[in-house]
Amino acid sequence: MPRWRFQDARNFRSAKGKGSLPAQLGVFIVFACVATAGFEAWQDYRAYGRELAKIASATANLAHSVLQHAEDTVEMADGVLVGLQERLQVDGTSPAALARLNRLLALEVKSLPRLKNLFVDGEDGRWLASSVPNLSPDLNNSDREYFQRLKASPGIGPYIGFPVHSRSTGEWIVPVARAFHHPDGRFAGVVNATVDVSYFADFYQRFDVGELGSIVLLRRDGRILARRPFKDDDIGRDMSGSLLFTEQLPKAMEGNYRAVSPVDHIDRLIGYHASNRFPLVSFGAVATSEALAGWRSDTMADAIIVAIIVATICLLGFLLVKELDNRTKDRAALAESEANFRLLAEYSSDVVSRIGRDHVRRYVSPACIRVLGYTPEELTGRSALDLTSPEHRDEVEQAIGRLWSRQAQEVVLTYRATKKDGSNIWLESSLRIARDASAQPDGVVAVTRDITERKQLESRLRELSRTDGLTGIPNRRAFEDALSVEWRRTTRENGASLSLALIDIDQFKKFNDGYGHPAGDDCLRLVASAIGATVKRPGDVAARFGGEEFALLLPSTDAKGAKIIAERVRAAVMALAIPHAGNSPRQVVTISIGIATMRSSGLGNEKPDAGILVMAADSALYEAKRLGRNRTHAAPPLVSVASTWENTSAAQSA
Ligand code: GH3
Ligand code: MG
Ligand code: MG
Repeated sequence: MPRWRFQDARNFRSAKGKGSLPAQLGVFIVFACVATAGFEAWQDYRAYGRELAKIASATANLAHSVLQHAEDTVEMADGVLVGLQERLQVDGTSPAALARLNRLLALEVKSLPRLKNLFVDGEDGRWLASSVPNLSPDLNNSDREYFQRLKASPGIGPYIGFPVHSRSTGEWIVPVARAFHHPDGRFAGVVNATVDVSYFADFYQRFDVGELGSIVLLRRDGRILARRPFKDDDIGRDMSGSLLFTEQLPKAMEGNYRAVSPVDHIDRLIGYHASNRFPLVSFGAVATSEALAGWRSDTMADAIIVAIIVATICLLGFLLVKELDNRTKDRAALAESEANFRLLAEYSSDVVSRIGRDHVRRYVSPACIRVLGYTPEELTGRSALDLTSPEHRDEVEQAIGRLWSRQAQEVVLTYRATKKDGSNIWLESSLRIARDASAQPDGVVAVTRDITERKQLESRLRELSRTDGLTGIPNRRAFEDALSVEWRRTTRENGASLSLALIDIDQFKKFNDGYGHPAGDDCLRLVASAIGATVKRPGDVAARFGGEEFALLLPSTDAKGAKIIAERVRAAVMALAIPHAGNSPRQVVTISIGIATMRSSGLGNEKPDAGILVMAADSALYEAKRLGRNRTHAAPPLVSVASTWENTSAAQSA
């Protein structure tokens, strides 16, 4: 029947496993941490993307501005060159024309501060005119790259030359040149406007590209024209092998890319723009580390906050899981021990019950079906005293009261109760106070068993111990108990009488001698039943006093009455007509009887005790024997007075 209890305990055990509450909470906490960290990482990743887009846009704008600036400068220089070209081709290079040209060039340079100088080289490379005053006529530019290029292809222009150290000032300059021609179309020389590399560099200083950023202006063939940061060695360097020229420019005229510089190994984000008017390319780059510094510090701050949040969740979660795990284990242990105890209670043949302070049963084990005939459901919720027989109810209630008042730790009670079928049984209950976890009394636990059989056995044993084995009538101990009870009762009652008759079979020695001991026993049985059959009043006791002597206790019987009964007994024995040859003259079994009677004054003095009555009866019996046997002799009545006993005959004689 209690199979489901095991199930219960098993369920609790499995609750410690995978699907348990602590494990679920653990999973949830891990999920919360991962979700928080993941969300933050995702946000940071998105911010990273936005930051890169912003940088791309900024570097593209930068490249655009730088290119625009360079284009404007070349355009402005070329405007001057076109005018000079036209003039030289029309006016020629006569000394007068050149003298005027020198003045014009100086004026032009003065009005256009972006131009460093203006030069006119003859077809052999010699300087014909310039904006520089007092020019040495010995200087020759035929070795310059722009000169040779324009001499070879005089149709192109404007031609942006290789950066060179100025022969007049020694500074880095970028030449912008055009060829001019003789009237027959032959190459006549080159007009050349120079721009200081530092002019570009100064402009680039206006942009914020960080300490590791750079801005570069290149020729389309990869030669560096200007650069920030400025380094002498960089000017004129060939970058045609770089990523920009090998990969980016073949794809698009403008764009963004990211690369690690082969020069300083710095990772940069780059925007570039190639001009579609001049063979120029601009390039703006910021170091990734600097450009993302703000994002990185923001991300770091966020990460620290998230780490603190996650650590807090983890710590609190861990404590919570631990606490929950402990509680779950406690609950499982409790359930298991409860299951064990229930098992004990429910398999026990004793009825185990728990009784509240209001005497109402809270729990009753199934053994009640066998012991009381009621189901646990029928008894639970009812008063624990309802089956107790009325004569024991107070006793049981008081015992429970003693437990509650802590006068007793445990009480064992024996009482009668009524089963469901109406039969009465004897129960023995052991009661103890049950305590809760905080040691507070929580009810009474009773273990109850049916002791009806034991009770019956006990009363049978008690009966046997008070019965004479041979004759089946009460033995001497039973007689003495009855005498003592009747003696006390009589002494309390004024005028009450108690009589005692001692009976002795006459010449019984001879009977044994003549008929044998077994026949003697048979005779004793017959005499006993004859005596027993004569006394009919409920209080009368006929007992075997010893050997072949019997005692007849006659409560509420005075001397006269006792004599009548004694004679009736004597006649009954004689009527048995058991042959007894040795008992002359009747030759049947006869008895002699000695009677003693006590009359109470009601003063309650019990002293001396009942022995005096026995002694008196014994004396009377002796007298009956002496007077010839088969007769009744009464002792003088005894009367109780205030403090002593007086023999009426003694009193009378006195
Ligand atoms: P009296 O008339 O003077 O009483 O003579 P008596 O022979 O009866 O003398 P007494 O009372 O002294 O004898 C008792 C005898 O009773 C002795 C014993 O043999 C016999 N007796 C006592 N108890 C038993 C018994 O249980 N069974 C048998 N068969 N005989 C018993
Ligand atoms: Mg005798
Ligand atoms: Mg005798």
